[in-house]
Amino acid sequence: MFQTTIQQEVFTEGVGLHTGVFGHLRLLPAPADTGIVFRRSDLDHFRIEASGRNVARVSYATSLMKQGVLLSTTEHLLAAIYSSGLDNIFIDIDSIEVPILDGSAEPFLRLLEQAGVRRLRRRRRYLKIVKPVEVVESDRRIGVYPADEFRVHCYVDFPHPLVGQQSIELVVQPDSFRRLLARARTFCFERDIEPLRSMGLIRGGSLDNAIVLTEDGVMNGSLRFPDEFGRHKALDLIGDLALLGLPLLGRVEAHKAGHALHTQLVSRLLGNSSSWVISTLGERPAEVLVAAEAPAAD
Ligand SMILES: [Zn+2]
Repeated sequence: MFQTTIQQEVFTEGVGLHTGVFGHLRLLPAPADTGIVFRRSDLDHFRIEASGRNVARVSYATSLMKQGVLLSTTEHLLAAIYSSGLDNIFIDIDSIEVPILDGSAEPFLRLLEQAGVRRLRRRRRYLKIVKPVEVVESDRRIGVYPADEFRVHCYVDFPHPLVGQQSIELVVQPDSFRRLLARARTFCFERDIEPLRSMGLIRGGSLDNAIVLTEDGVMNGSLRFPDEFGRHKALDLIGDLALLGLPLLGRVEAHKAGHALHTQLVSRLLGNSSSWVISTLGERPAEVLVAAEAPAAD
């Protein structure tokens, strides 16, 4: 198993969900052992590593900050990169927030497919869990447990007729991510729109980049999956786990978690080196799908 990067440079642009700021984003090949590194091209290519060490405030999105330089809403792009098995990449961006595009990871995945994969000569290093680590906050919890593959199980429960309890479990591989999670979009409740706006959030939010839930339905069109919400939460989880900085060999169980718990788990794990080892031997098994695959809604 060798490290990878992308074959060629690719580009996209768009508005940020929370700041409403328009940004230009370029993905570029990077040498072995670089990891996933954001560079603020508007600030002399200031580097912000996609690492739990650089996690800033976390509420409705995950933000990184280093020496006062902020970058928001990293999770969907990172989910696409991490699930694609890319070890090294530069992400050049000239704004404070990653474009939200259609609210899912699919446009980023398409971009990565366009970029292609290049194998490097250095061996890939995995973060292999050897002891469980858990974070619990009342009825919300998240934990990571020893496993020979990267597996996530995500459970959500929102009191809404279209959501309710949803449970998604999969072995995370490029193919399973593409088929099961990539197209699932971010969502919000109509009743939360004004409070969020008054907090200075979702300034770039629109009916084109988020599912908006009314009291008993969806305001904008049909769902892409009957359980699109649970799938999106699993996507968010994977994007936050990318902040581990290495591919994971472990099973992650998330129960009503969110960005705050995801990133707490990452920090706790990185700070607890007796719970993992660095392995170069990890071989991912052929098994892809654990949960029964629900058909697409459209
Ligand atoms: Zn999300």
